[in-house]
Amino acid sequence: MAMNQDPLLEVVDLRTHFVSSEGTVPAVDGVNLTVGRNRTVCVVGESGCGKSVTARSVLRLVDPPGRHVGGEIRWASPSAKSGSGNGDRVIDLAGLDPRGEAMRRIRGNEIAMVFQEPMASLSPMHTIGDQIVEAIRLHQPVSKKEARQRGIEQLRRVGIPRPEDRMDAYSFQLSGGMCQRAMIAIALACQPALLIADEPTTALDVTTQARILDLLLELKEDLAMSMLFITHDLGVVAEVADDVAVMYLGKVVEFGPVDQIFHQPAHPYTRALLRSIPTFGLDRGHRLEAIPGLVPHPGRRPRGCSYHPRCDVAIAGLCEQTAPVTTPLDDRATVQCHLYENDGGSTGRRATEAAGPKAAAR
Ligand code: SF4
Repeated sequence: MAMNQDPLLEVVDLRTHFVSSEGTVPAVDGVNLTVGRNRTVCVVGESGCGKSVTARSVLRLVDPPGRHVGGEIRWASPSAKSGSGNGDRVIDLAGLDPRGEAMRRIRGNEIAMVFQEPMASLSPMHTIGDQIVEAIRLHQPVSKKEARQRGIEQLRRVGIPRPEDRMDAYSFQLSGGMCQRAMIAIALACQPALLIADEPTTALDVTTQARILDLLLELKEDLAMSMLFITHDLGVVAEVADDVAVMYLGKVVEFGPVDQIFHQPAHPYTRALLRSIPTFGLDRGHRLEAIPGLVPHPGRRPRGCSYHPRCDVAIAGLCEQTAPVTTPLDDRATVQCHLYENDGGSTGRRATEAAGPKAAAR
């Protein structure tokens, strides 16, 4: 795991499985990642690799038949100071009752979440004002009037014009971009230390997407918060990330600072993802490379390294038999690939050079 002396969130060997009469689906299968203070970690990967389930697992929001089956979610709770009075007390969220009071105190207050579909996430039965006032009063002992005033300020802060009027609007009276701004206002109403954003711009048009990304970055700086940002879009990663966790079939296969991931990608899957995105300066007629095959169903995970059927540098006799372990690349980055396990990663680096890593446009 990438080293971080004072992490806000540390996810260690997290496992979330969905159990049904047809079998067990290990959607999250040993995830390790760290979110430092005031940093943005992007979790990236193709659809079905477990990004959203990881995000929901951190907030203990996975509904049955999904359940936490192992690992720790170490949260440096800002409101629970350590006995010595220095620093935050670390709480293992995995050990809390998902519906219990301790978890409810953290969810929405210390850690907030913005979802993919703003229209579907807001209640069509309640005004924006009712929803923001409820979020504030759930965690803070303030009057309705005071909460409403704070709500108006929040809407203004996220760039909603005429916030006094919009407090009394319903979600169906607002555009998609306005709804997402309202969702962000609700999520940030209690000034959380960590915002989890699950594909917050996917359902929006490109112009609105850019505005929402700018807004999130601005708010992150203003509020000195950290972000765990889920996306499948490497362009968004380049825009917002400090660190990147690349996920494949329920595991983080590479973790590191964004520059390292883009300019010296180590894992064959990361390299393949980068080769598949368009960049400026490509010759006309240049064909983008597609990653061969599809992400297998998590319940039918290939033996050994789960990426081996699609990997262009798989080691015959090893990769299809034995799962790789997490190996440090340096003091900030890790990779899960046999190419880096012995000889200090020289084999992996030679394979990387031979494959011609592509620096994506940033
Ligand atoms: Fe490819 Fe083997 Fe590395 Fe998996 S462990 S990514 S199959 S080289």
